[in-house]
Amino acid sequence: MSIVIPVYNEAANLAALWRRLQPVLDRCGRACEVVFVDDGSADDSLAILRDLAAHDDRVRVVELARNFGQHAAILAGFRNSRGEIVITLDADLQNPPEEIPRLLAAIDEGNDVVGGWREERHDRTFRKFASRMHNHLTSAIVGVPMHDYGCMLRAYRRHIVDTVVACDEKAAFVPALANSFTKRVAEIPVGHEERASGRSHYNLLGLAKLSLNLITGFSMLPIQLVGLFGIVVFVLDFALVMLLLAHRLIYGPQQEGAMWVMFAAVFALFGALFLAIALVAEYVGRIYQEVRRRPNYIVRAVHDAESAHRQPSLRQ
Ligand code: UDP
Ligand code: MG
Repeated sequence: MSIVIPVYNEAANLAALWRRLQPVLDRCGRACEVVFVDDGSADDSLAILRDLAAHDDRVRVVELARNFGQHAAILAGFRNSRGEIVITLDADLQNPPEEIPRLLAAIDEGNDVVGGWREERHDRTFRKFASRMHNHLTSAIVGVPMHDYGCMLRAYRRHIVDTVVACDEKAAFVPALANSFTKRVAEIPVGHEERASGRSHYNLLGLAKLSLNLITGFSMLPIQLVGLFGIVVFVLDFALVMLLLAHRLIYGPQQEGAMWVMFAAVFALFGALFLAIALVAEYVGRIYQEVRRRPNYIVRAVHDAESAHRQPSLRQ
């Protein structure tokens, strides 16, 4: 088992984190490693982590060259982890390390991904509201409904971690990506505490960026809406032209008729413009999907007579 912990300016929390994490590791009864990723901290975090690594050979520290952000740090940790199960955890003690055995139990039940769900969050009200919106959005876009995509207390099986790493995406949102690779996803309620010390690194702008990232990373919806708008304009324009024709047939030519014809022409041009943008975007979107190395499908196992023989327990 590997535990991956991104660390950005958390010097004040690391000693307490390690004090609580250590007994959990001792008790879990499996081989484990802790991969701390120092995400370009400007405080003493790196020195403290290196000291931990020097005294405990379960600890490894990945030092990033500068601050790349929480998700990039987690990816770096994934790449440098070796466990069959990988658990992610925040360094600020908002995720109680004591919940790790429950995540492991849920993985052992046959799940590929287990997400923590902070039933009772200890964050500011606006933060909770923003996160609720974010979860609805993510659930809809990824197609896997979850209460809490933001909770970083999560567990993944190795093949999921390897697939996420292989995607090598520039703006990866790890929980969403992982959930799109398997149907064996579970969510368990976990505790949530106030930040032990220091302040959250996310503000409203950061969260908005994350949401936008997610929409553009997982769906073509925004540009499809532009196309839809173009079609609506065209339909309305068609109705207008019909109306003008009928008017002319019934009442004959009118003085302000030319103005209306011009209006309809401009309207049609607008519709065509929006449709053209959507069409170009559709091609760009396809290129985007091709250059992105997300797999088309993932084979979990191949079952045949030989494999059945090797794993007789499966036949029971
Ligand atoms: N973090 C990081 N790089 C960053 C921002 C945050 O590695 O650029 C780490 C941070 O040290 C913590 C975790 O990501 O371990 C969650 O960050 P934070 O507590 O600021 O976020 P919140 O709990 O408000 O979601
Ligand atoms: Mg936090």
